[in-house]
Amino acid sequence: MKTDVVLIGSGIMSSTLGVMLKELKPGLSIQLFEVTDRPAQEASNGWHNAGTGHAGICELSYTPDMEEDGTVDVTKAISVFEDFEHSLQFWAHGVRKGIIKEPGDCLQPLPHISLVHTEEQVPYLKARFEGLKKHHFFEPMEYSTDREKIRSWAPLLVEGRDEDQPIAATHMDGGTDVNFGAISENFCDWLGEQKDCETHFGHRVVDLTKNGKGWIVTVCDELSGENRTVEADFVFIGAGGGSLPLLQKSGIPEAKGYGAFPIGGQWMITGNPEVVEKHTAKVYGQALGAAPTMAVPHLDARVIDGEKYLLFGPFAAWTGKFLHEGGSHTDLPFSIRPNNILSLIKVGLFNLDLVKYLVEQGLQSKSSRMRELYNFYPDAREEDWEVIDAGIRVQAIKQEPGEEPGIVHYGTEVLTSEDRSISALLGASPGASVSTQVMLECVEKCFPELLESEEGKSRMSDIIPNWNEDLIGAESRDRYLDLHAKAMKDLNLL
Ligand SMILES: Cc1cc2nc3c(=O)[nH]c(=O)nc-3n(C[C@H](O)[C@H](O)[C@H](O)COP(=O)(O)OP(=O)(O)OC[C@H]3O[C@@H](n4cnc5c(N)ncnc54)[C@H](O)[C@@H]3O)c2cc1C
Repeated sequence: MKTDVVLIGSGIMSSTLGVMLKELKPGLSIQLFEVTDRPAQEASNGWHNAGTGHAGICELSYTPDMEEDGTVDVTKAISVFEDFEHSLQFWAHGVRKGIIKEPGDCLQPLPHISLVHTEEQVPYLKARFEGLKKHHFFEPMEYSTDREKIRSWAPLLVEGRDEDQPIAATHMDGGTDVNFGAISENFCDWLGEQKDCETHFGHRVVDLTKNGKGWIVTVCDELSGENRTVEADFVFIGAGGGSLPLLQKSGIPEAKGYGAFPIGGQWMITGNPEVVEKHTAKVYGQALGAAPTMAVPHLDARVIDGEKYLLFGPFAAWTGKFLHEGGSHTDLPFSIRPNNILSLIKVGLFNLDLVKYLVEQGLQSKSSRMRELYNFYPDAREEDWEVIDAGIRVQAIKQEPGEEPGIVHYGTEVLTSEDRSISALLGASPGASVSTQVMLECVEKCFPELLESEEGKSRMSDIIPNWNEDLIGAESRDRYLDLHAKAMKDLNLL
């Protein structure tokens, strides 16, 4: 079989790229291969991630420090907000085109709250609020230290809290709870119905061989055990935790030196209606000690498969697996190569605090997890909560020249071969929220011809109206408000 594009994986990244490419060039042939028997069962699955539409509203990790002059640099939060706006616009286009059938299964409007509860953190949150509030993205944000006000936003945060404990919170409507798995599923379903496109579940990509300008992709049918090959001009490796091993198989020089470091996760969850009904927000706090940024605790109202839950966590954990479904504890050792072993050793040596933290977190008892929950929800009852597994984040590791040894990269990186015939996505933060922005950059790099013609530009403007526009400058305020309101209406989020 011969095709223009092979997509590996059915998570939010591959499925987004598939829809974007097919919308830009309807004549393109695309084959998507996914090892599990249904779409998006790994990191993009609703249970495996926090479902936060990361827009920089509540996540304190994007604005971690207070400067000596008492201000907080909010540049990163503003840029994350703009990236997420690309996703909102893309998904709104999906709803308008009937690609996303029921937006309510995919996105829910949910206020985003930041909470601090120590003397030192209160001035920090106030300074962060003052920095953000000046920007038009964050105009609706409110700040309060008043318990009654905070109770009106999220009663569980206040009930039973020690009267002497200082608390402060910011609150903003317009945040989202996103089921990235449901979006991926809608995208895969639509893609599979398009002319010259097919989606294959229960099919594992096992090898990649260079073939002239393109690739020969070897795929194993998990049921029959039979291998077959597909010739493709372009391959996207969106295999999540499975991306690094496939990238290593491709043998492209750009992959040399990359290693991967998996961080497992767990949630505490309750479905008790009495508790669930009292909390309709996402509440983020600050990272504790050596906690990696993705293990910043938060208390989230979630809607998954039509049911409401509260999730608290994630608690990070040590794991050797790269994938939740069918991953193996040998994934980490088998990914070691002469060209990445140094980076991996340095990560271990220079991040001993992190490794110790991960091991300790994994061994934590339920009672000690409850103690973290009490910081958010002082009246929580242990019997209401159970511990479940979250997804695995596989962090990309590479020692860049001149960089401190042993840096763990928490970013999302797209590696592309020099001839632009193959791209792979490594890393998992900020993750699914920026899938549209990351895939847009992939299209710009690997399919520049699709965006050169007037027709291509007009198609892209239909898909993401602000794809080549800056919405950050003060002069863009009205344009942003206009576009944002339209997308929120189409997504049924107003
Ligand atoms: C605990 C946790 C919380 C998170 N919270 C958030 C959040 O609140 N907001 C946010 O934006 N992001 C969050 N993320 C990150 C987000 O979930 C990921 O960045 C995103 O889902 C990655 O999507 P993906 O398509 O790259 O990978 P995946 O969804 O993992 O998809 C990869 C697919 O490839 C398939 N695959 C693997 N190997 C092969 C192979 N050889 N052949 C064929 N198929 C293969 C897998 O089965 C899988 O379906 C969180 C992640 C975790 C772990």
